[in-house]
Amino acid sequence: MRATELYAPTLRESPAEAELISHKLMFRAGFIRKAAGGIYSYLPLGWRTMKKIMQIIREEMDAKGGQEIMMPITQPAEMWKESGRWAVYGDEMMRLKDRHGREFALGPTHEEMITTLIRDEVRSYKQLPLMLYQIQNKYRDEIRPRFGLMRSREFVMKDLYSFDKDVEGMNISYQKMYDAYSRIFERCGLKFRAVEADNGAIGGGHSHEFTVLAPSGESSIAYCEKCNFAASDEKAELKIIQTAPEELKPLEKVQTPACHTIEKVKNFLKVPIEKTIKAVAFMDDAERLILAFVRGDHEVNEIKVINSVEGANHLYMAGDKLIEKAGTVAGFMSPIGISNAIIVVDQSVMLMTNAVAGANEIDAHFINVTPKRDFDAEKIIISDIRMVQEGDPCPHCGEKLKMTRGIEVGQVFTLGKKYSEALHATFLDEDGTTKPFEMGCYGIGVGRTMAAAIEQNNDADGIIWNRAIAPFEVVVVPVNAKDDKQLAFAEEIYNELQKSGVDVLLDDRKERAGVKFKDCDLIGYPLRVTISPKTLESGKIEVKVRRSGEFLNFERENCVKSILELLETL
Ligand code: ATP
Ligand code: MG
Repeated sequence: MRATELYAPTLRESPAEAELISHKLMFRAGFIRKAAGGIYSYLPLGWRTMKKIMQIIREEMDAKGGQEIMMPITQPAEMWKESGRWAVYGDEMMRLKDRHGREFALGPTHEEMITTLIRDEVRSYKQLPLMLYQIQNKYRDEIRPRFGLMRSREFVMKDLYSFDKDVEGMNISYQKMYDAYSRIFERCGLKFRAVEADNGAIGGGHSHEFTVLAPSGESSIAYCEKCNFAASDEKAELKIIQTAPEELKPLEKVQTPACHTIEKVKNFLKVPIEKTIKAVAFMDDAERLILAFVRGDHEVNEIKVINSVEGANHLYMAGDKLIEKAGTVAGFMSPIGISNAIIVVDQSVMLMTNAVAGANEIDAHFINVTPKRDFDAEKIIISDIRMVQEGDPCPHCGEKLKMTRGIEVGQVFTLGKKYSEALHATFLDEDGTTKPFEMGCYGIGVGRTMAAAIEQNNDADGIIWNRAIAPFEVVVVPVNAKDDKQLAFAEEIYNELQKSGVDVLLDDRKERAGVKFKDCDLIGYPLRVTISPKTLESGKIEVKVRRSGEFLNFERENCVKSILELLETL
């Protein structure tokens, strides 16, 4: 392709609302343009990269036995009512009516559509397993569309659905998709982790989120470099932290004037923070007081508290009145001698000895608290309720965990019978009985993957594409396209590269060299071949590697071969 025929409007400024570097660069490099909040057009360069990502996805889906189909975006309300999700999906679902007043949704996801599609026709175990997928626009009216393609309202998603005759089969399909996803993100050149995820309302089965590591990411994950364990901070289970044994001293109350924070208590009593016990007071929907206790240097994980208290669904910060009713006071709480509260104690707290905890009265603390001895085991819930921290031991291998932020680009789920039961999608098994399908669903955000790749690969000059998903692999730039000799030389190289199967752009624009070079760096082609007067003189071809900034010189005769070899490394 020639740059004079390419529609690639580059800009100096990025939109005021763009916070993320990927959003700014995609806009400036002429990849996307905004139509409305969270709704974008993809310009030729952006769409080329999108197509390359989609091609990688297709190849890996097909390799695992996936078959591509295309389902409607416009989905009748009836199937959503049948599954029960019409009522629960809420404002995120874009809804519309046809001229007859019939209700529809613009598909945010396709479990209902695919299940009703196959339920009347896939009737025998002999037709299983079955894996069907599509790549198309999805619609979600996100509360806060932002970060460009990262969280948009109309976005391209690959969604695959698996149907199996039993749980064993479903787990095999899941593993196949897990492997395919790993290959897809590897081929895209991304640094990522498959993170153990909470599959919330779906329950029971497994779920992993494929998360690209990037400081700008919305999710926080803990990972182990030794054994590959990774989990979201909310989910990461933790081992009990042992404390060195000590001789037990008798419980004692001491005055701690105005020491209502752990910082103040530890300084006043001159004890290390890990010898203190701190409390967080929550209230649930039923207005029950829930007091959570963790070590002073740890943080409470609300999700884990919810999971350990029966009947608790949401937590709010408790007010002073509720706390006082339980016979304690904010800033000085401990489980010793209080009632009218649900007390949840972190498992690691139970191993502490001679620690400091509140005395349930203003300006006083207990010292020499030994929870095993001093807490009433009958009245407390002991559980893992703390937030993972950098340096915590890995629950699988004990190595120190690291923390990082990440962008969820894909998610795999086992659904079990959730949708097949709700929508009465059954098959006849070998033993003659009718059974609901065991299903799985697997999504990848294509635009979000492109954005995540930019988040991970950029510098002050622009984007740095990995070869596999670059809009063009190589750009050939005659420094002065008005010079016929330079242009002819550049065209020769361009033609040869094209013949060798390289995805190459000829920058034949009659712009100043500086302008063209700036654009090349901004757009981020992996290799730039420069044809200058020097090239014509010496016959040496100069190649710039975008990622390293290195300049290499190749002989005219074998330059195509050398470029091909170089591309292999990018
Ligand atoms: P999130 O938690 O980020 O809202 P999700 O868990 O709701 O995403 P899924 O239903 O698992 O998303 O969708 C599969 C994939 O689709 C996600 O992993 C993500 O890559 C992509 N995706 C989801 N929502 C959006 C969006 N609003 N904009 C762009 N991509 C999205
Ligand atoms: Mg998800």
